[in-house]
Amino acid sequence: MQNTESSLDLITVPNISAESLYSKKSQNRDSVREIAIKILAEVMRFRRVPKSSESCGDSECQKCSSSHLPNIISAVKNNKPVTFVLPAFPGKSPNLKKVLGTLPDRAEELSLDFLGDLCKRIKKYYLPGIKIIICSDGRVFSDVVGMKESDVTAYQVELDRLINEMALSDISTFNLDDYYKELDFVQMRDELMGVYGKSLDSLRENVRNGSKPSGNLEEKEANRMYCGITRFLFEDAMHPGQTKSRASIQKEARAKTYEVIRRSNAWTELIAEYFPEAVRLSIHPQTCGSKKLGIRLIGNESWMTPWHGVAVETNEGFVLLKRSEAEDLGAELIYFSDGRPSHYKLKADQNLSM
Ligand SMILES: [Zn+2]
Repeated sequence: MQNTESSLDLITVPNISAESLYSKKSQNRDSVREIAIKILAEVMRFRRVPKSSESCGDSECQKCSSSHLPNIISAVKNNKPVTFVLPAFPGKSPNLKKVLGTLPDRAEELSLDFLGDLCKRIKKYYLPGIKIIICSDGRVFSDVVGMKESDVTAYQVELDRLINEMALSDISTFNLDDYYKELDFVQMRDELMGVYGKSLDSLRENVRNGSKPSGNLEEKEANRMYCGITRFLFEDAMHPGQTKSRASIQKEARAKTYEVIRRSNAWTELIAEYFPEAVRLSIHPQTCGSKKLGIRLIGNESWMTPWHGVAVETNEGFVLLKRSEAEDLGAELIYFSDGRPSHYKLKADQNLSM
């Protein structure tokens, strides 16, 4: 006797009519959707949107959720953890006016803590929870931005150690070294760009068009990313002891930025292919309806990342500042038990408004 699974169900459970089975299924569908919406809203509470007027700023915006909800629904439907990928934590800026050194410190710890809390909160109402995969991208562009390979490696190792020590079982890392295990660092990047890289000309055109009112969403994002990264690279190159003119540093920063973005975009393609079911997070502000969801890395931070700054403990909790700003405030340097600098602390009678 041949039987489909559903008709077998109807035979073995005779008290349940087809109608009530249907309504159970549709109830289940509703709750899957509700849970997915709740998870997305929880993440979107911390999202980063550009200051420009075109952003919606609403944590339940339909246009924004339509990009990310399908992947979340699909995971929830199968009772599996929802995966988020976050290209971030490349390694510390080489500029010692901004950071304390080359290894993760209290700033990274705070950020991991924040992401870990996010995972824990979601687990309270969705048991499989979420997984955040930090796609550490230092190796992708270290040669362009002047980070030593050994510093990138040490940063990655320490980040993994911290995640382990802090028992953040829902957070993991993925980097170029994990993907191209057999290759040296130069070969890894050549392979990445050979397979996933796009031309410089098309990127330049996108950035140019993004500055015009007629630019589309993708072009505007390319332009915003270009402005943001140029600023970081310019600041990083203005370290004490450098001898070039401001104008030539600015010019160099612009050229490097194009290469950093080309590499980042190639990395994005690789990640999307490797983690097809994941929701894509970004540390950069993202406009309404974007395929990426811009999020903060520490609940209260403005536009600063742990690897471009230092953690400063104030009366109202921690903030991220540039190292030079913390020093100008006269904040006290605090050390880890192994003697390595950890963060700064403001005196009890000090506050941030200088
Ligand atoms: Zn929106």
